[in-house]
Amino acid sequence: QAKQAGRGKFNFYNSEISPEIKDKLEIDNQLRHALAKSECKVHYQPIVELESQKIVAAEALLRWNNSKLGQVPPDRFIPVAENNGLIRDLDQWTRRMAFSHAQFWAQDGKAIAVSVNVSAVDFEQTSLAHDIIQIIKNSELDPSMVSLEITESMLMKDPEHASDALQLLRNSGIKVAIDDFGTGYSCLAHLQTFPVNRLKIDRAFVSNMLKDANAKKIIAAIISLAHTLDMEVVAEGIETEPQRQELINMGCKLGQGYLFYAPMPADQFTELIAKQQQDADIDTAMH
Ligand code: C2E
Ligand code: MG
Ligand code: MG
Ligand code: MG
Repeated sequence: QAKQAGRGKFNFYNSEISPEIKDKLEIDNQLRHALAKSECKVHYQPIVELESQKIVAAEALLRWNNSKLGQVPPDRFIPVAENNGLIRDLDQWTRRMAFSHAQFWAQDGKAIAVSVNVSAVDFEQTSLAHDIIQIIKNSELDPSMVSLEITESMLMKDPEHASDALQLLRNSGIKVAIDDFGTGYSCLAHLQTFPVNRLKIDRAFVSNMLKDANAKKIIAAIISLAHTLDMEVVAEGIETEPQRQELINMGCKLGQGYLFYAPMPADQFTELIAKQQQDADIDTAMH
């Protein structure tokens, strides 16, 4: 018996590390040098008007291509970065890139708003809203063309802190969106008190809306909630034309998803909006 327990113990401390943990450790190691080795890039996914399919904004999404691990998706490296604290540098870098791209588009005469994701770890730092406001003040960017994507849990964890941060952002003209809306636990009474501009319907509801009556009802409820609270709605993860049609019928004005465009490198996005502008110019010239 004692021998057995002893052996168990021995195995516990010396057994092979599980592949999952190994994977995280490797990501952790490699991620520390990602920025210095220029392995990161920001991609942009267009946000369109559902009716006209015109591009009105872009969401900045971080991409990491590591020499050893290859392309690692954000869902794998963001949680690691949140754990080891690297998220602050990564998000700061992403924001700087996104803001400078947005400034470039604006100088080029294109009214494209840019949206960046904010990590919970970063948001809990009191200075985040203040820092972002400062960066935008020191740039030529119109604050109303910038939006920050936060999640419900970030609002609900410390509602007072969140409320203060959002109030600062609201006063500065920067927009705030709640990402993946419907998947967290929002307190509706609180939601009403937060100065939020936009709700983004989580793509799980959109992908199920035509086969699951409940998913569709939840979307209808979110759209109605948003309109009641004077917020915009963006549907995420639109992949089919019937989904687009149904969302238009339900009163949703904005969306993003593979049906329109996948996230793409900055150069490609810049070309895309230049072409959109050209087509619009030709259209006006002809009418
Ligand atoms: P998110 O902010 O909800 O971003 C939308 C995700 O949905 C992106 O995944 C996008 O590529 C994907 N997507 C867009 N349209 C479709 C579609 O039609 N079908 C499907 N199946 N997927 C679609 P991505 O780029 O892999 O990012 C995953 C998550 O990682 C993001 O979810 C966001 O929470 C986080 N993330 C990405 N970049 C950053 C960043 O720079 N900072 C932080 N803190 N988080 C980031
Ligand atoms: Mg997002
Ligand atoms: Mg989302
Ligand atoms: Mg998300």
